[in-house]
Amino acid sequence: MKGYAPRHRNRQTSIMKPADHDPTFEQIRQKVEAGRRLSPEDGLWLYRPEVDLHAVGELADIVRQRKNGNRAYYNVNSHLNPTNVCIYRCGLCAFSCDPGDSGAYVMTDDEIVALGCKAADEGCTELHIVGGLHPDKTFDWYRSIIQMLHKSCAGLHLKAFTAAEIARFSELSGLSIRAVLETLIDDGLNSLPGGGAEIFSPNVREQICPLKVDAETWLEVHRTAHSLGLRSNATMLYGHVETLEDRIDHIVRLRELQDETAGFQAFIPLAFHPRDTALAAGHPHIEKSTGIENLRTVAVSRLMLDNFDHIKAYWISLGVGIAQAALAYGADDLDGTVGQEEIHHTAGSTSPEILTIETLRHLIEETGREPVERDTLYRPVKRDGADWWVVVEG
Ligand code: SF4
Repeated sequence: MKGYAPRHRNRQTSIMKPADHDPTFEQIRQKVEAGRRLSPEDGLWLYRPEVDLHAVGELADIVRQRKNGNRAYYNVNSHLNPTNVCIYRCGLCAFSCDPGDSGAYVMTDDEIVALGCKAADEGCTELHIVGGLHPDKTFDWYRSIIQMLHKSCAGLHLKAFTAAEIARFSELSGLSIRAVLETLIDDGLNSLPGGGAEIFSPNVREQICPLKVDAETWLEVHRTAHSLGLRSNATMLYGHVETLEDRIDHIVRLRELQDETAGFQAFIPLAFHPRDTALAAGHPHIEKSTGIENLRTVAVSRLMLDNFDHIKAYWISLGVGIAQAALAYGADDLDGTVGQEEIHHTAGSTSPEILTIETLRHLIEETGREPVERDTLYRPVKRDGADWWVVVEG
């Protein structure tokens, strides 16, 4: 395959040079086959454009197979974004608005409950709840979202609030992060999503989300959540102003926390969608990441995160085709049906707004893998239409 010149200092080329005889590749292969941990230097080396992407993918597939066999997961879920008004206005974000902007919205209680009940009635197992940090909304308002849904939509797993939101609730309420999480657990919170991590490097955060929590706070929220028995996910937003070293540093910091808590379930690499973001306006050279970059990032993540059970190919972020291909590059999960997604679509994701269960299963089966519906905690689910139940594996 013909290579092309990098357009950006972080971008990779698609040069497909066989790596099988490279001594470094052989050393990494031996580590992977022996189940030994890769170093940050190994991760950076695997990101090098001259290293055969398919060879890296094959290595990642060894780890995926070891951890998840022939299974590839999906879930039936919906998203709830209660408001897009946000005090932070991160440069990376095309979703947020100022109060009074023409597209600004705040959902009413009735709308929130109606969306949750619709999701439950349609057989969703999970509601993924994230949104803006509205300047006039108190911690009690965010609590009421969980309380209402917990009361009205029994059985629906409430995966809610990024670490950035949790930290803001702590500021608003004067409660510690631990007390905020304990309060939300009492209200009905079931787990945390992985958003808000972006890239941990302070230099990058200063450019893409200067007001958002720093890396230490993000990690502390998840550390505390894990200590309280909540499971969570972790994301990495890539393909903007970060370097490859920043990506590896981000991944290694997640790996270190996972060594400590074992509370993360899945790592989700998110490709940056520049359209309509202030960040892209100030950096016109930023282009949407290529399929090659996306696949390599999935594969390197799988290889570096030896203590994460799952790598998710989030089809809304990667696109359906690359997400499907990522199942052969280390990913074992396509995420879900994802009704009502706003955040990535506002930033120019051209993925469909929803995938049916049949489509998700077909996408997985085409790769030769066994589609397994899971709940948020990765327990297998059986379903009969909108009725579903968790399978207890013996
Ligand atoms: S990324 Fe999140 S915190 Fe930042 S502006 Fe958008 S909604 Fe607000």
